[in-house]
Amino acid sequence: MKLDHIGIAVESIEKAKIFYEEMGLSIRALEEVPEQKVRVAVFPVGESRIELLETLDPEGPVGKFLAKKGQGLHHIAMKVDDIRAAIAKLKEKGVEMIDREPRRGAEGCLIAFVHPRSTGGVLLELTEKKDE
Ligand code: ZN
Repeated sequence: MKLDHIGIAVESIEKAKIFYEEMGLSIRALEEVPEQKVRVAVFPVGESRIELLETLDPEGPVGKFLAKKGQGLHHIAMKVDDIRAAIAKLKEKGVEMIDREPRRGAEGCLIAFVHPRSTGGVLLELTEKKDE
C-alpha cells in the first residue's frame, strides 16, 4: 500500500492554490468529479499528491463538510491494487464502509470511502488506478 493523496477541502481553489504554488508545487490536473460534486486541483508531491477539493454543490459531501467544519484536511487516500478485493476484506473484518461498491474518482480511478468510525476519526479513501 502507498499513500496516494491527501484531500483538502477549500472554499476556493483559485485562492487556496496560491499557497501551494508558492511552496513550489504545480497543478497537474484541474477536473470536475460530478459524482462527488467537487472540482479537484491535483498537485503531485513526490509519489503522492495533494488534492484541493472545492464543492460544486452545498449539499455535496465537501459542501456539507465545509459548512460543518470549515476548510481543512478532508481525507487521506491509500492506493490498493484491487479495490473490490480490498473492500471485501475490510467488510469481512467488520470495518464500516461508506461505499460498499467502488465509484469513479478523479483521473479515472476507482474509489471507495471507509467510515471515520472505523479509522480513528479519519475519512479514508481507497483508490485503484487503471493506468499504472
Ligand atoms: Zn481523494
